[in-house]
Amino acid sequence: MADRTPVPVDMKTTEDQKLKITWDDGHESEYHFRFLRGSCPCAECVDEITGKRIVYPNHVPEHVRPMEAIPVGRYAYQFVWSDGHNTGIYTYEYLRSICQCSKCGATPK
Ligand SMILES: [Zn+2]
Ligand SMILES: [Zn+2]
Repeated sequence: MADRTPVPVDMKTTEDQKLKITWDDGHESEYHFRFLRGSCPCAECVDEITGKRIVYPNHVPEHVRPMEAIPVGRYAYQFVWSDGHNTGIYTYEYLRSICQCSKCGATPK
């Protein structure tokens, strides 16, 4: 069993508007761009006090896409989105928890 959070070894985007991340434990995650943008964990998208999500995937542009994924330390990525949003820090742990692959099948949190 893994006693630590897996780390990404590869990241790419696909023609069908998905981000794919390959992890060092062999898992291959995928996230539809709009889903990932609408799962942003920042204070503008999730109410800090109540923990309730404010921005959902259906609130963001249909064809939103990540322009950049900036590594934050060794634990997260900060995504810069085509709609100008860039305050979300997606930790590896969070990214794993919202994996949309056929095995994980996450829905927006
Ligand atoms: Zn956000
Ligand atoms: Zn998965």
